[in-house]
Parts: sequence; structure tokens; C-alpha cells
Amino acid sequence: MELYELNLHILIEGLKAKKFSPAEIFQSCKKRIDQCEENIHAFITRTDDKPQSIENPNGLLAGIPTVLKDNLCTKGIRTTAASKILGNWKPPYNATAWEKLRSAGAVLMGKVNMDEFAMGNTCGNSAFGPTHNPNDISRVPGGSSGGSAAAVSAGYVPFSLGSDTGGSIRQPASFCGVYGFKPTYGMVSRYGLISYGSSLDQIGPFARTVQDLQLIMSIISGHDPMDSSSFRNKDHDFTHSEDVSIKGKRIAVVKEFRDFTLDAPISDAIKRTIKILEDEGAIITEVSLPVVAKYAVACYYALAMSEAHTNLERYDGVRLGYTVKDAAGIKEMFERVRSYGFGAEVKARIIAGTCLTEPSRCEEYYVAATKVRTLIAQEFSRAFGETDFILQPVTPSLPGKIGENDEDALKGYEADLYTLPVNLAGLPGLSFFTGYSGNLPVGLQLIGPRWSDVSMLDTGVILERHLGSPKIANGGVK
Ligand code: GLN
Repeated sequence: MELYELNLHILIEGLKAKKFSPAEIFQSCKKRIDQCEENIHAFITRTDDKPQSIENPNGLLAGIPTVLKDNLCTKGIRTTAASKILGNWKPPYNATAWEKLRSAGAVLMGKVNMDEFAMGNTCGNSAFGPTHNPNDISRVPGGSSGGSAAAVSAGYVPFSLGSDTGGSIRQPASFCGVYGFKPTYGMVSRYGLISYGSSLDQIGPFARTVQDLQLIMSIISGHDPMDSSSFRNKDHDFTHSEDVSIKGKRIAVVKEFRDFTLDAPISDAIKRTIKILEDEGAIITEVSLPVVAKYAVACYYALAMSEAHTNLERYDGVRLGYTVKDAAGIKEMFERVRSYGFGAEVKARIIAGTCLTEPSRCEEYYVAATKVRTLIAQEFSRAFGETDFILQPVTPSLPGKIGENDEDALKGYEADLYTLPVNLAGLPGLSFFTGYSGNLPVGLQLIGPRWSDVSMLDTGVILERHLGSPKIANGGVK
């Protein structure tokens, strides 16, 4: 077995026992990247040209390689959000989540691909071209954090970070066959995360085991004075050692989702998972989420686009990133910078967001959407009075071919139905691996009430024990 194939926990144990060195892990991962990157194209910027110094040689992650979605700021290292508008911008500071990993000794192999400003679910809306799914390189890896998921799936690194505004961790995790966790809003500091929809965005990890997600969560979670929305008073012990059980836990399926079509391997996975949960002593129930089923997609896109249009106003060619020097005046400069700098999907969303929040329509659209959001949060609160977790798909279908649905944005938006309600209500969501259909992985999702992150991941450990962990994907290697 090569070192790049080992999961995070095994690498940490092996390093402790001096079975191998950080330099050997680095070389093995780098070799794997060199072997597959031409097929996968996960990177925007590689930083593995030479072994990086380890910030903390005694830290928990000393010598462990990782990659970051390219919307996480890295001091002195180009950060693009997969957009031309940021040019060669090198942030003057680190995102808190990365700062915590670095302080624990993690080593950065590079910045990875995503949909521009995290808008999309294929990783094809990138100014740097699409990333390919390491399980089948003709297919999308999912998005927007497609590079982060592909890198873990192909064995480039044992774990990575992404961000999830409406599913961008959970959906690519499911498409690439790894675990992905979207924490409760506020669990991980967003400081240094390039904003898309600030009330929805949350940073979280990808890994090849649930235990590895727990370890990363124990490092990146917690209050940060630089992010006033990060939590203050809750104690969350992600790496506790007591044995966990789901005996007597209530796990529900959503009544309204029963009528929606799913690819057969996904509905089969639900049946298999329910059987496992029952055998473990869980009580399977049903909850009703009519507002979610009917209005969540429209509500999310109205809010996400409104917030995006405000957040993206700052890219004007004055402060940072791409600019033009020969414009006749400030107006021409804005126009030329933004016309060239933003891709088509981002422009469409900025225009939509401008219309939705424009004074004469704001009440009817933006304000209405915030009210629907409250109803959705209330609906979940009621449901979580009746159940501990909800089990549901991540997506209605398995990953499609690259470019297949590029012309049909609305179809893409609708495919987010199972992931985006979680962000509207600030809930945690775990995308877990259930097995393969042919060579394609099939994932499902657990969602729970706010701050149920620890027990959700515990439940994930039990599911993994029964369903098995994913293999490293072949990465298009002949
Ligand atoms: N697909 C959704 C969108 O395009 C979610 C993206 C995300 O979570 N960043 O907005």
C-alpha cells in the first residue's frame, strides 16, 4: 500500500510510531497528484513544488498534506475564487480555519478548483476550466467544492476543506465518494472565506472516513473574535472516546419527498440504510416539511442571489484584483473590469440579485423570501421535536457528464432541493458514502437540529461501520 492511500488517522498513528516521515507522505501524495492531475484538473494553484515547512512539528497534523478550496484566503498565496476578477490577488492574511490547521502542522499542497464564487453544482463554472470526477473522468465531480472532493477521492490528500452555501460540500462529497460535513452555521469561523451568501455560507471538511471528519472538526470549530457569527458558549467534543449507540434514536424520512423521482441506486441506498438503522435499534419515523418541499429552492435562490449581488459589489478594479489602467473614467473602468472579470453565471446572479432587492420590488421578493426562510426554520424546529435526525438524498441523480446540463441553469437549481434547506435553517448536514453503482459512488445525507453536529457524526461512524468506507478512486489512470 502507498502512503497516499492511507486515511488521516492511520497517517497520524504511523507518524507517531515513526513508521514513516512527513517527507515520505509529502512525496507519495505529490507523486499521486503528478500521476492523475492531467486527467482530473483539481488544482488552480499548486504549492507542492517543494516540501513546505511545518509550522508546528508537534501539532496533531504535523506533516499531513491538505488542499483548500480557492475561496479560502491564504496569506501570500494566490486566491482566486475561480474568477478572473481577483487576478493574481495574494491575501495579506489567512482564513481562520486554515490558520488553525496550519498551527496544527498541516501542509498545504495547493488551492483547488470550484465554481466561480461558489455559484454552481458542477465545478464547471470556473474561469480555470472544469474539474473531472476521479471515479469517471467523463463526469462532473459536483460543486461548488469539486476540487476539494476530487482531491480527497483521488488520494491527493487525506482531507480537505470546502464551503457549503446550499450544498457545495455535501453534493461533491456524494458525487466523488467521500464524506463531507456541513457544520451548523456558526460552528466554524468564516473569517477569510470569500463571501457568496453570508447568511448561508459555512466552511467544512472532506475526508475518507467519518472519524477523520471528527478530527478535523475538533481543530477548526470554535469561536473566533474575527467572526461575530461564530458560536461562543457551546462545548462540542468531536473526538470523545465513549462508545456510541443509536438505540432508541428517532430517524425520519420526509413525507413530501416520497413523491419525487430518484435514480434507482439512490432509492435503493435509502432502503438499505433504513434497514441498518433499524437493526441498530433506531426508530424510523416520518416528518412533514411542506414549505420546504414547495418553496425552499425559490427562497434559497432569491436570498443567495440578493446576498451575492451585495457581496460582489466590492470587486470594482479599485481595491484589489484585476483592473484596467486606460479607462476614460471611473464608470468605464467598473464596466470593463466587471464585464471581463465575472463569468456568465455570476453575472446572471448579480443581475437577478439587483432586481430582487431593487426598492420597488424588494418587499415582494427579497423580504418575502426572508419570511419564507423563517417558516422553513420553524418547520424544521417542529420536525426536530418529533425526530432526532432526517435521512434523505443528497441529489436526485448520480453525477452527470461534463457539460451535459450547462444550458439549463434552472434544472441545476432544482437539483439542490435536498441540500439547500439545511443552509436556510443553519442546520448541520452529513453526506455519507453508501456504496457504488457500477463505478459511481452513491451518497446519502443525514440532517439534524442546530448544534447536533457531534451526535450526527457519531451516527455517521455507525453507518460507515455497516456500509463500508470508500476506496481511492482510480483518477483516470490507465
Ligand atoms: N448550487 C448552489 C448554488 O449554486 C449551492 C452552492 C454552494 O453551496 N456554494 O448556489
